[in-house]
Amino acid sequence: MDDSERFEQLIAFVGAQLPKPVEEQQTDDGSFIFIGGEPAEVIVQITESTVLVAAFIGVERPAETHRTEPQPVGELHWRLLPETPLMNALSAMIKGARESRLSTYRVCLECEEKKAPELMHTDDVCQECWDATPRTVH
Ligand SMILES: [Zn+2]
Repeated sequence: MDDSERFEQLIAFVGAQLPKPVEEQQTDDGSFIFIGGEPAEVIVQITESTVLVAAFIGVERPAETHRTEPQPVGELHWRLLPETPLMNALSAMIKGARESRLSTYRVCLECEEKKAPELMHTDDVCQECWDATPRTVH
């Protein structure tokens, strides 16, 4: 298998491993970016020599509201690895990134749904429930 076939195979593999829905973007430099999950859980960037896996994990900063940004969890040089170890490593990284992301989700006490942290208004109430509930202003 030559490198362009391996590149195609890698793209197909990543597309299949990511949580659905998968959004695919191609950048000007010929690399591919895949974003899996709604809201986004994992992002993978594939360039002609590397695969970068990142998890969407909330970043707490004082003086700023809760923000969620992709945090890189690992990078592989796919050309240097044989197929099986590459796929195994990539699969583990995507799974790990997803677990990290999902562990930040919180359950809303009002609708009892599990929500991404950026969709929560407070630690216990999601934005949707917060907006839907009339509240008295003290
Ligand atoms: Zn809710």
